[in-house]
Amino acid sequence: MENEIRNTVILGSGCSGLTAAIYAARANLKPLVLEGHEPGGQLSMTTLVENFPGFPEGIQGPELIENMRKQAQRFGAEFRTGHVTAADLTNRPFSLKLGGTAEIKTHTIIIASGASARWLGLPSEQALIGHGVSSCATCDGFFFSGKEIVVIGGGDSAMEEALFLTRFATKVTIIHRSDSYRASKIMLDRARNHSKIEFLSHTVVDEVYDVSQKEVTGLKLRNLQTGKVWDFPTSALFLGIGHTPNAAAFKGQLEMDDDGYLKTREFVHTGVPGVYASGDVADRRYRQAISAAGTGCMAALEVEKYLEEHGK
Ligand code: NAP
Repeated sequence: MENEIRNTVILGSGCSGLTAAIYAARANLKPLVLEGHEPGGQLSMTTLVENFPGFPEGIQGPELIENMRKQAQRFGAEFRTGHVTAADLTNRPFSLKLGGTAEIKTHTIIIASGASARWLGLPSEQALIGHGVSSCATCDGFFFSGKEIVVIGGGDSAMEEALFLTRFATKVTIIHRSDSYRASKIMLDRARNHSKIEFLSHTVVDEVYDVSQKEVTGLKLRNLQTGKVWDFPTSALFLGIGHTPNAAAFKGQLEMDDDGYLKTREFVHTGVPGVYASGDVADRRYRQAISAAGTGCMAALEVEKYLEEHGK
C-alpha cells in the first residue's frame, strides 16, 4: 500500500477524466489519474470528431485525447496504469484496490471510468472476438479491406462504424432488430445515401460462423417479423450496440440505475460526499465528448471546494 494519502484520484483517462485532471492539476492538487482498461476512453478509438468546439475542420479523436493528456501533465497530473477492482467508501480516507495488493488512499475520488462496448453475448460471437468479431471499427476495419462486413445496431455508433468501414469494405450491411433507428437524422441519412451500405431491419443474429475455422465466414440471421432463418456470408461482424458503464467496483456503495449507470444527486455529486461521478459512467442521456469534458470540469471544481472546506 502507498503511504501517501492523495488529494484526489481520478478513475479513467477519457475526455472527462482528463478534463478533471487539467482542472485539478491547475489547482495544484497533484491528481493521480488511473488510466483504466481502455486508456484514452472512447475518443481514442474513434476517427474524426467534428462536433467538439474549437476545431472548425474537426480533429482526430486520438489527437484530441493526447492533447488533453499533455495539458494535464503540464500542470502536474500523475498517470498510472490499472483500474479499480474494489473500493471502500465507508471509511475516510477512501481506499481503492487495484488488484493484487496495490491500494491507494485518497480524500476524494472522481469516477470518470466511462462505458465499454456491449456484445450480443452469443458463445460463437465471444469465441471469435479478434478473429473477425470486433467492437472497434477504427481499430480493426483495416483488416477487412476488400471484404464484406456486417455492422449491428441502429444508433449513431452503428452508423459511424458503418460509414468508416466503407473505406475498406466492398459492402457494409447494417443489421438492426427493428426499423426504428436511434441514430441522428444526419448520420442515418449519410448511411442511407452511401452506395456501399445496405440495411436489414427486423433482423437478429443467432450465430456467428465459423468457430471451428477461427474466423468469421458468415452469420445465421433471423427475421423477427416473419421468423425466416437464413445464412448470410460475411467476413466480419462489428458491434455498434451501445455501451455498459464501468462502475462495478462501486456496486452496493453508490446508487446506480437498472443498467449500472451511476446516479448523481445535485450536479456531479454521488450520495457519498467527496466522491463525484462525471462523463459516460453517469450519463445515459447525452454521452458526448463535450458533455463528458464539462462534467469532468465540474467534478474537479467540487473536489477543490470539498478539500478546502475540510481543511485538506
Ligand atoms: P444507442 O443510441 O443506445 O444505440 C444502440 C443501438 O443498438 C440501438 O439501435 C439498439 O436497438 C441496439 N441494440 C442494443 N442492444 C442490442 C442487442 N443486444 N442486440 C441488437 N441490437 C441492440 O448507442 P450508441 O449508438 O452507442 O450511441 C450512444 C450515444 O453516443 C448517443 O447519444 C449517440 O448520439 C452518441 N454518439 C454520437 C456519435 C456522433 O455524433 N458522431 C457517434 C457515436 C455515438 P434498440 O433501439 O432496439 O434498443
